[in-house]
Amino acid sequence: MIRWADRIGLIDTENAFKVGPYIAEVERAGHRVIKCNLGEPDFALPQHIAKAVKEAIDADMTHYNDPQGILPLREAIAKDMSAKRGLSISPDRVVVFPGAKPTIGLCQQAYCDPGDEVIYPSPGFPIYESFIAYIGAKPVTLHLKEENGFSFTGDELEPLITRKTKLIFINFPSNPTGGVASREQLARIADAILEKAPADCRVYSDEIYENILFDGSAHLSIAAMPEMDKRTIIVSGVSKSYSWTGGRVGWAVFPTAEEAQVFKNLNINYFSCIPAYNQMGAKTALESPESPRVIKRMVAAFQERRDLVVAGLNAIKGITCCTPKGAFYVFPNITGVCRDIGAIDAYEKLPREVKSRTSPSTLFQLFLLFDHHVATMDRKSFGRLGSEGMHFLRISIATGIDDLREGIARIANAAADSKGFAAFVAEGKRLS
Ligand code: PMP
Repeated sequence: MIRWADRIGLIDTENAFKVGPYIAEVERAGHRVIKCNLGEPDFALPQHIAKAVKEAIDADMTHYNDPQGILPLREAIAKDMSAKRGLSISPDRVVVFPGAKPTIGLCQQAYCDPGDEVIYPSPGFPIYESFIAYIGAKPVTLHLKEENGFSFTGDELEPLITRKTKLIFINFPSNPTGGVASREQLARIADAILEKAPADCRVYSDEIYENILFDGSAHLSIAAMPEMDKRTIIVSGVSKSYSWTGGRVGWAVFPTAEEAQVFKNLNINYFSCIPAYNQMGAKTALESPESPRVIKRMVAAFQERRDLVVAGLNAIKGITCCTPKGAFYVFPNITGVCRDIGAIDAYEKLPREVKSRTSPSTLFQLFLLFDHHVATMDRKSFGRLGSEGMHFLRISIATGIDDLREGIARIANAAADSKGFAAFVAEGKRLS
């Protein structure tokens, strides 16, 4: 047995990557699974971007390159991020990373000492919480409320800020809820930060879903609020906007060029650099007039699916679902189902050790997958701390509309199948 370093026991994970083998198991048993678990657009990489990547490979852009990101891409990022937010960003404040994810842990490593406090939203992208214990900081959970559309106000944030706060994660549009803050809310959140947070506290604004907004609304960044450009790390990338999760190109704009240099050095230590041909693809994605057209078609498809799924879920007894304003997830409250089907009672009766690994919504999620063949994600996959007693599922709408229709029908059947649920729990094979 290897004796791992203690910190290895402290890092959590992203369950979206763990559910794959479960799905494979159900498929091997001969069932067709409706996949509402996916965190990536179900569209192909747009042709004009694929072409740019191929051309860059043919031009031999296959070698080591600038660890901060190649200049033509950093210029394109600076221009695009500035124009969309009304800011003036120089390329020396930009660092390119292998996706928008690595910056989460790297920022915690770079800005936080043990004991420093990190504020993050819950439900939220799980990697924010995952790293906090790993680097020895203190998690301060900002619980988002369904009745507020999973957004939050400055008044909710303000009491959580102390002189030890070093990082504040915010994410609009949000994974897993699709919540988006209004201009007024962002202004009040900014006020709370400017009034109470230490000057060296950074806001980590995860804007990876910046292009996926519904009902014609435009993206708003907290960095665009007065004085906030100096405090905010703005993060985005190609994964969601251009349906290119396999490209592994993300970026961050830091408040100063000096901070960017620290992350350039972390890149040197961890990754050396990001493939130049994919960076050229990202440059084309940001600059081509074809991109807005492709994004528009994708967002229209997501909005049509959102409307279908929200209405379908709200028609199921025991489920209430608010309407997301962006991203490609819906986040129904399944408290009624968990109660009616017996998931809350079944959970209470489990041995303590099993209980610590599961929850009522996890039991329903697994029942849904193994017996009704719909893959979703449970509430605790989006922040564990303080998630007890909260019964939600994340349903991704990055799946064809016919499959979503079928998925809703199956969820409705599962929600009414208390006999099947009791048998599933009694069998005890898949409880966590
Ligand atoms: N932030 C959020 C909120 C996300 O949902 C995701 C992807 N699921 C990421 C960051 C990571 O994106 P990337 O693929 O660019 O690393």
